[in-house]
Amino acid sequence: MPNPAPHHPPLVAVSAASEDVDGRARVRLNRVYTDALLRAGFLPVAAPPMDPAYAATFLSRIDGLVLSGGDDVEPRLYGQPPHPTADRPDPERDAWEIALVHAAHQRALPTLAICRGAQLANVALGGTLVQDIPSERPDTLAHSRAQERGRRVHRAVVDAPSRLAAALGAAELSVNSLHHQAVDRPGEGLRVVARADDGIVEALEWTGDDWWMVGVQWHPEELDTTAEPWDRALLAAFRNAVSASTANASRRAPGA
Ligand code: MN
Repeated sequence: MPNPAPHHPPLVAVSAASEDVDGRARVRLNRVYTDALLRAGFLPVAAPPMDPAYAATFLSRIDGLVLSGGDDVEPRLYGQPPHPTADRPDPERDAWEIALVHAAHQRALPTLAICRGAQLANVALGGTLVQDIPSERPDTLAHSRAQERGRRVHRAVVDAPSRLAAALGAAELSVNSLHHQAVDRPGEGLRVVARADDGIVEALEWTGDDWWMVGVQWHPEELDTTAEPWDRALLAAFRNAVSASTANASRRAPGA
């Protein structure tokens, strides 16, 4: 089936934070997410924290899900006391996004999880995190390089065969790195598919063929206009997965 016409791009939800600014809660999402998704042929819509009871209903009108970056996931959600470096928890955002992960899984809605999003998806599926790479994994690379959002600062080696390797068309790539946490034990149904040279997890994905779900620790939305093709390829693979998924949904629709 051909891709949908360009004037009718698929709708992708991007999770967003709520942040207190001058005493008011404001929706916050780095604009680069919506710009990169537009470049990749989507129409993006921001999804700030809402009542988790709406997650399935919300996603029933959406063609794909992006879980965005942000502050640390509440460590008690994976059974650990907070490390001294942990960000102030945002229970509303955590609960909403965990509900999105379960609803997306149930509908097999294509899902691209980025940075905190990958960590959050891992926790939603029962996995754990390294709470602070510099203190818990000394002798590793500098992964927290927020001043270099658009720079590829370390290598990631990708397992093949994997959904990620197929998406990238490469067995290794060079990525940006804006994180002080990382996936430790993968959640149920997930597997690690890329690591940095120091062993830190850089990507994970759903093991089965039934759900296109990829989580990356780097930020493809900051890199899709670089000379290197990998991040455009990743977003294009996500786009193809969404097209395939919506085509399936419309084939099912007449009997639904
Ligand atoms: Mn990294």
